[in-house]
Amino acid sequence: MIFELIAIVGASVVNLDGGAPIENAVIIVDGEKVTAVGRADTTPVPPEASRIDATGTWLIPGLVNVHVHLGLVLPGLLEAELANESDAALALRMAKNARDTLRAGVTTIRLPGDSRHVDIALARAIERGQADGPRIVSAGEMVDITGGHGADETTADGPYELVKAVRREVAAGASWIKIAISGGIATPVGDIAEALMTPEEIAAVIDAAHRFGAKVTAHSGSPRATRVAVEAGIDAIEHGYFLTREVLALMKDEGTWFVPTIVVSQPKTMPFFERIGSPAWYLDRVRSVGPRHFRALQMAVEEGVDIALGTDQFPFEPNDGTTATVREAEYYVEAGMSDLDALRAATTAPAKMLGMDNVIGAIEPGKFADLVAVTRDPSADISSLRDMVLVMKGGRIYLNELH
Ligand SMILES: [Zn+2]
Repeated sequence: MIFELIAIVGASVVNLDGGAPIENAVIIVDGEKVTAVGRADTTPVPPEASRIDATGTWLIPGLVNVHVHLGLVLPGLLEAELANESDAALALRMAKNARDTLRAGVTTIRLPGDSRHVDIALARAIERGQADGPRIVSAGEMVDITGGHGADETTADGPYELVKAVRREVAAGASWIKIAISGGIATPVGDIAEALMTPEEIAAVIDAAHRFGAKVTAHSGSPRATRVAVEAGIDAIEHGYFLTREVLALMKDEGTWFVPTIVVSQPKTMPFFERIGSPAWYLDRVRSVGPRHFRALQMAVEEGVDIALGTDQFPFEPNDGTTATVREAEYYVEAGMSDLDALRAATTAPAKMLGMDNVIGAIEPGKFADLVAVTRDPSADISSLRDMVLVMKGGRIYLNELH
């Protein structure tokens, strides 16, 4: 790849620690990395640099969305259409979704469960410059139990089979392991609030993964299952539809991350489910969890649980006049977070959760030049993420609407 030296000038760089922004800033990008950030009067622009005039905009690090399935298929018409999708067709569909993700300002994603390890091949292709997309951290295929949420032909039961399944995913290239410890919206059977995996099974997965340096996250709507997993040392909990204040306080004490994916259960997402032909039972299940899910998010904010943004929809999926990623961040503010904290949940917090805060999540010298420009200050109003005018990942521009 051939890179040029780039100077982004004139923008305000948002301070994600809550301090004053750097106004009239100069950001020097050399290759994939940022090499200098500062005020124009103290940060020289090398004469050979090509200038991007971003006057009047606000710069933030590229967004991070930690609950994405690039090959997502939900019950309904699309599922029937894709029933015999080949590996090659899946790879091309996922590559298209990766490109669209990047153009929506999301420069890093974590995939908690995609099919046939196509995601791992795609992640490597993006790293090599063979495909355009965000940085991808993958959990490979979800490790699932017979009859459980997401169960397919590779189910595993009991500690020994589950340990083997964990090792299978790590060997395929997964750095996270995803398990489903309760029922879910997309499971036609099984109580969402019920614990489906046994404590022995949950503990065996976490132990096996941690020995390989992989982190573990769980699909969970269940307070009971979540308590078992948190006590066994799980790293993150997804969805948390029916979580109680007691369990959320435990997560806070143990430093367990919470990935709310609140968009999937809220009324503004109903037009999406109708558009994709979701069956009536699915719509009923969405409606049945919405209010409790939102309450759980409010309590998580009140308890100060570490929250990282995830959508469980495509990051770019249209939702209420914006994307699922931006709408998710707006819900955090509606649930009681400050605008700045919601912005952190979409940038610095997930970077930390992924153990990547040394390379992403901030516009600083030495970090990847992953950044987004918006037309108003998003730390004062998160909805300004609706108006992105520039997206850069690793020093390359994927969206430029600056005039
Ligand atoms: Zn999911």
